[in-house]
Amino acid sequence: METLTLFEEHDLTACTTFGAPVECKTYFPAWDERVLVQALDEARKKDFPVALIGQGSNVIFCTDYFDGAVIRYMDDKQRLKLTATDDPEDSDYAFVNIFGGYLWDNAVLACVKMGLSGAEALSGIPGTAAAALVQNIGAYGCEIKDILHSAKVYDRKDGSINVFTPADFQFGYRTSIIKQSVTESDFMYYPTPRYIVLNITLRLKKASELVINDERLSKTFNIELGKRVKTMYFRKRILATRRKKGMIYDADDSDTHSTGSYFQNPIIERDKLEMLPRDIPVYETCSQDKVKISAAYLIENSGFKKGYAFQKSDAYISTRHALAIANYGHATYHDVLELQEIITNGVYNKFGVKLHPEVNLLKNRNDVLMRSNLRTFTSLSGVFPGDANGHFSLNSDFFDFINKRDV
Ligand SMILES: Cc1cc2nc3c(=O)[nH]c(=O)nc-3n(C[C@H](O)[C@H](O)[C@H](O)COP(=O)(O)OP(=O)(O)OC[C@H]3O[C@@H](n4cnc5c(N)ncnc54)[C@H](O)[C@@H]3O)c2cc1C
Repeated sequence: METLTLFEEHDLTACTTFGAPVECKTYFPAWDERVLVQALDEARKKDFPVALIGQGSNVIFCTDYFDGAVIRYMDDKQRLKLTATDDPEDSDYAFVNIFGGYLWDNAVLACVKMGLSGAEALSGIPGTAAAALVQNIGAYGCEIKDILHSAKVYDRKDGSINVFTPADFQFGYRTSIIKQSVTESDFMYYPTPRYIVLNITLRLKKASELVINDERLSKTFNIELGKRVKTMYFRKRILATRRKKGMIYDADDSDTHSTGSYFQNPIIERDKLEMLPRDIPVYETCSQDKVKISAAYLIENSGFKKGYAFQKSDAYISTRHALAIANYGHATYHDVLELQEIITNGVYNKFGVKLHPEVNLLKNRNDVLMRSNLRTFTSLSGVFPGDANGHFSLNSDFFDFINKRDV
């Protein structure tokens, strides 16, 4: 039986798709659930802050030394073979249980090959199956919440293992209870969620074909509305489109050395739309009063064209996707944060809209605690919102406030 291995002073640079240089005190590779739970226990015994990563395609370490344990839950050898079992309540559907460390796109491919439909729109998204739930990955009108049946979750609060249904995850646009739990309980779990996904189960339709009945999909892929196509054909079209936009990770293509979309599409009150240009792409949300607007539009129309870099920095806006910040080769986390700030300020000054990062910014816990104490202190002088006297206490409002900011 394989046991837990520990590496001291480990270089993590190759453990993220952005590839900024970073090392950590202790590194545990975890290739199965048992080893992952062992690694979490070990870090707790040593009282180390934990940074859990999968493929590292949606994280930037905001330090060059993470003073704690980094656990990587990913089986890069992908030893498992996926199998499907019938849904006893509806023979048109099947369940597929996927080990959390399995690469998401390998899982999609396996499902399509098994003649199961539902996951193909999410083809080509990097990362592990477990991490896919963290921000409710989405593309081309589909989100993982639409096909998730359940997931096995380890609770760091009491060490229990529970089965979560989609409702338990409280999924939203690029968020979930897992993501929210990173800053729960006064940052006790930071920078890793309280809830750790061990494995997931999808519920998919037994079908090798699908009907293109969405106008946007029909336009994007130039497939006639209402036409029936093979799921494998659709997957290939998606992969080709994503590749063109630099949205499939490729070791030889710096445009893809990114975290995908760096910023979220802002959600604003519908009545604020009249203050924005008429041609800005607008998407409906589940709320009547709110709409989602294109962050890419805001960025490009604030003067940040594709390929933009600040003063010859190696962090730049991908030449193929305005929402991605990519790495020519030697970008550091400083370069990324500097570019993030320049873009955020530029967009705010031009349109009055605040962009928020979609990426997970992983910091040393002490830095975050120090910063939040400093914020409480400065709030007394009115820098941060407080009561009528400018006072601001460490209550849930405060955490809500800083959660919405990029800690
Ligand atoms: C080129 C490119 C294209 C992309 N395209 C898309 C896209 O189309 N749509 C989209 O939604 N995203 C996209 N992304 C973002 C990214 O691929 C997804 O967010 C992916 O799910 C991250 O998986 P990961 O394994 O790399 O997670 P990581 O980046 O390693 O971790 C992300 C977060 O999840 C947490 N985490 C990791 N594993 C677990 C676990 N087992 N349990 C609980 N928390 C965990 C981490 O602590 C961290 O906070 C893209 C990224 C790249 C680089």
